[in-house]
Amino acid sequence: MGNGASYSKAKTVYLDVNGEQQKIVFSTHSSSRDISDLLCVAAGVGKWVNITLRDQDGAFVSVAPTMPINTVRNPYKVHAHDQQRNAQGSNDEFLQGVMTQVAEQFNKAFKVQDLKEEVSSRLTAMERRMETEGLKAIEIEKCKMEIGHLKDELLAAKKSHAKFCKCSGPVVDEKRIVTKRDVPKYPKYTLSNETIKYLKKPTFDIWHWESNEMLCLLEHMYHELGLVKEFNMNPIVLKRFLLCVQENYRNNPFHNFRHCFCVTQMMYGMIHLCELHTKLSLLDMATLMTSAVCHDLDHPGYNNTYQINARTDLAVRYNDISPLENHHCAVAFKILSNPDCNIFGNCAKDEYKQIRQGMISLILATDMARHSEILDKFKSQVTGNFDFNSAEHVNSLKMVLIKCCDISNEVRPMEISEPWVDCLLEEYFMQSDREKMEGLPVAPFMDRDKVTKPTAQIGFIKFVLIPMFEVVARLFSQLDDQMVEPLREALYRYEELKLIEDSKKEEVEIEELQEEEDDVIVAGNTY
Ligand code: 5GP
Ligand code: MN
Repeated sequence: MGNGASYSKAKTVYLDVNGEQQKIVFSTHSSSRDISDLLCVAAGVGKWVNITLRDQDGAFVSVAPTMPINTVRNPYKVHAHDQQRNAQGSNDEFLQGVMTQVAEQFNKAFKVQDLKEEVSSRLTAMERRMETEGLKAIEIEKCKMEIGHLKDELLAAKKSHAKFCKCSGPVVDEKRIVTKRDVPKYPKYTLSNETIKYLKKPTFDIWHWESNEMLCLLEHMYHELGLVKEFNMNPIVLKRFLLCVQENYRNNPFHNFRHCFCVTQMMYGMIHLCELHTKLSLLDMATLMTSAVCHDLDHPGYNNTYQINARTDLAVRYNDISPLENHHCAVAFKILSNPDCNIFGNCAKDEYKQIRQGMISLILATDMARHSEILDKFKSQVTGNFDFNSAEHVNSLKMVLIKCCDISNEVRPMEISEPWVDCLLEEYFMQSDREKMEGLPVAPFMDRDKVTKPTAQIGFIKFVLIPMFEVVARLFSQLDDQMVEPLREALYRYEELKLIEDSKKEEVEIEELQEEEDDVIVAGNTY
């Protein structure tokens, strides 16, 4: 394994949408589904619409991360097949369209990850549309009955297929989580000394590695920190645990396994940078690292606000109290409940209890709704006299450390951090598009019409990141140079970008004003 400095490649594909030119840009790490969704956005249609692409010769082009790129002169022609809209000519046909879509989903039941959740939310959206489009009461009732029936069937199908599928909704209902691959198929790598050294730095190129390599790097961290030895971990169980964790991260634009890797690598970097082994116990270190690895397990790509407003199963299960974080944590312990994956299987009962308590506390602390509460408490402890012998103080420190790592992308060099903003905005836009479609409230910071990269980052760096890292740097002064300073530089860069963005906007506004004035003069001359 080398240390190459190549980053995730973005692909640009040009489109012809009914004569109008569009383009999409996606990472080569995107899934085909992500690209299909992006095409729907570019074509200005809902995500249920089927999109096909044809090249200049009329040949179909596959929609996949490997799809061939084209030029602005040779765009792919976009064809949208809106079964739902076409079917609205008659209500019976409309219902038929709904049934066909659901039947297709059923046929894919073995493969489709979010079957129940996705279909039931589409059905809810259709229910809303049917009502707003003024169908006769009797027809609405008929549709509702059919939909209710379909929902029940979906639920039954999901239960019967659950043992074959990766978790879609809450995985905690299933008896145990099994990995699709087992350890023997998980390739072995030899890490170069340079990689081993570089892995401890916040400048580590997290885009350079594919999944198996990231697994190997995570495994190395557990060995290098002495956790395998201290907790008498079976090395194969460690491999299987990490593999199972990886399989239970979804392919979201942002909340995916690479994000898990980044957060854990930053935790590993901070442990070394702050020499935490001189201040904290190995049990604390195991708690920090394992919480980082597990902290976003099975994230569905839609945040707590969506979960609560859409009244999802997760929100109902956890009574609107940090539903996602509760779920990530429950999935973590479901994985650990399998003896084949339990890296703490050889710990004493009391040690396991402490690790479990610590992990629950840390994973739940990643809910940003609790940011001020957690930071204020830590700040008061640091301002007084921080006591490394106080369990309460150390717990606060650990919570703040995982929070720092969770949102630390902007600490990294610009070439590495910047693609993450695109990933985050892509996930935000996916949520806000869905919220608009389902008639739910939309947060302005997620709205594609209101947010830009600089506006998303300036406030976040200035009011969230810098103040938090500055407090931690009062305990560990080495963070000033290594983390706070890069954050200030990132802030400066985004402020510069915003100035450029604003002056461009101003130019456009002046041009538009000028055009309006010209129109008035022309109109004045005519009449
Ligand atoms: P997570 O969901 O990853 O556990 O919690 C972190 C949350 O903080 C993310 O969901 C996201 O809303 C926010 N966040 C993390 N990094 C950034 C960033 O670089 N910019 C902005 N604007 N928000 C971020
Ligand atoms: Mn996270």
